[in-house]
Amino acid sequence: MKIELDLSRRPDAAPTALPSLAGLSLPALKAEMEAMGVDPKKSGMRAKQLRRWIHHFGTQDFADMTDVAKELRAQLAERYILTRPEIADHQVSRDGTQKWLTRFGPGIEGESVFIPDVGKAGALCVSSQVGCTLNCTFCHTGTQKLVRNLTAQEIVAQVLIARDELGEWPTSTENRRLTNIVFMGMGEPLYNLDNVAEAIDTISDGDGIAIGRRRITVSTAGVAPKIPELGHRTSAALAISLHATHDDLRNEIVPINRKYDLQTLFDAIRAYPDLSNSKRVTFEYVMLKGVNDSLAEARDLVRLLKGVPAKINLIPFNPWPGAPYECSDWETIEAFAEVVNRAGYASPIRTPRGRDIFAACGQLRSESVKKSAAEKRREALAAEAGGKAG
Ligand code: SAH
Repeated sequence: MKIELDLSRRPDAAPTALPSLAGLSLPALKAEMEAMGVDPKKSGMRAKQLRRWIHHFGTQDFADMTDVAKELRAQLAERYILTRPEIADHQVSRDGTQKWLTRFGPGIEGESVFIPDVGKAGALCVSSQVGCTLNCTFCHTGTQKLVRNLTAQEIVAQVLIARDELGEWPTSTENRRLTNIVFMGMGEPLYNLDNVAEAIDTISDGDGIAIGRRRITVSTAGVAPKIPELGHRTSAALAISLHATHDDLRNEIVPINRKYDLQTLFDAIRAYPDLSNSKRVTFEYVMLKGVNDSLAEARDLVRLLKGVPAKINLIPFNPWPGAPYECSDWETIEAFAEVVNRAGYASPIRTPRGRDIFAACGQLRSESVKKSAAEKRREALAAEAGGKAG
C-alpha cells in the first residue's frame, strides 16, 4: 500500500505550538507585529487590519486577509494561528441554552453559557477565572479552588466560540442573537480586573466584535475597593451579588462580606460613575428557603437600596449535588418580589435556564484542579525518571 503525505498542509488534529492571535486586544496585536519585525510606524495600521479580519469577519485563515501583502500573510502563518482554544464539551439545553466547556490549556477548563431571549436578544455568560476563591456557600463554583485567572485573550475567545457556533460573522447590527455579555460565569471578575478591562475593550470595539459597553454587565460578590475602578475603566453595567440584607447572614453565605461589610459595599456602589435611572445597578438575590426569603428581609432590602438606582434580580436557587440549601417556594418568591416591586423597583424573577445541562446560575464547575507544588514536583520527577528509562 502506498501512503502519500501532503506535507504542505498542517494536519488539523496535530497539536501546534504556535500562538493564536484570535482574541488579542489591539495593543497586543500591535506588540506582536513589532515583535515580528514590522516597522513601528506601520505596526498600528497592521494591527487594525488584523483586528478587522479576526474580530469583525471572524476569519481563521490568514489567506482570507486580502488587503495584507502576500509576503506578510505568509510570515504571519509561519508564526501564528487564528484558531480558538479547544472546545472540550458543548451541550444544548431543551430550552435553547448552550454551554461550552473550553480547554484553555492542559487541565485548565472553564465554562461559558449562551442564553437566548435575555437582554436585547441573547446573552453570553463568560467566565473570568477557572475556579474561584470566594466560597459562597450556595455556589457550585465556590466548591472549586481557584486554578488561575483567565487572560484577556481567553475571555474574548469565549465570545468568538459562541459567535462561531451562532454563525454571526461578520459582525452585523441586524438580527443578532448574541447582543449582551454578562461576566457571571466562573470566578470573581474584580479579582482579575486588568484582564477583564482589556477583554471589555476588545469586545466593545466598534471595528471588531462591537458589543457596546452598556450591553456588558460585570457581576461582583462585593470587592468594594475595585467597584468604582471597574466603572472608570470599563463603563460596564454593574451587578452586585447581594443575597442578604444583614451583615450576620451575609458574613456566612457570602464570606467576602467579612472583609467588606454592607456599609463599605454600599459606599463603593454609590461611588460607581454615571449611575442614573437609565444606568441602574442590578442586585442579584438568590432565594434560599428559610434562609433569606422572609418578607421582613424584602422590606430590609428596600431600605438598604434607598437612593441607589437599582433593579433587583431574584434568582431561584439552582441546586447542585450536595448543596446545603433548597429553593424557596414559588409563592414565597412572588410575595418577596411583590414587596420590592411595590417600593418602585423592578424585580424580575430570573427564570432558571439550562438546568438540564447544569448551565444555570451557580451550577458551573469544571473538573480543573490546582495542583499543589508537591504534586507538580512528583510529576516532574516521574517524567524525568520516565525519560531516563526510555
Ligand atoms: N463572582 C461573581 C460572578 C458570578 S455571577 C459574583 O458573585 O457576582 C453568578 C451569580 O449567580 C451570582 O450572583 C451568584 O451569587 C449566583 N449564584 C451562585 N450560585 C447560585 C445558585 N446555586 N443558584 C442561583 N444563583 C447562584
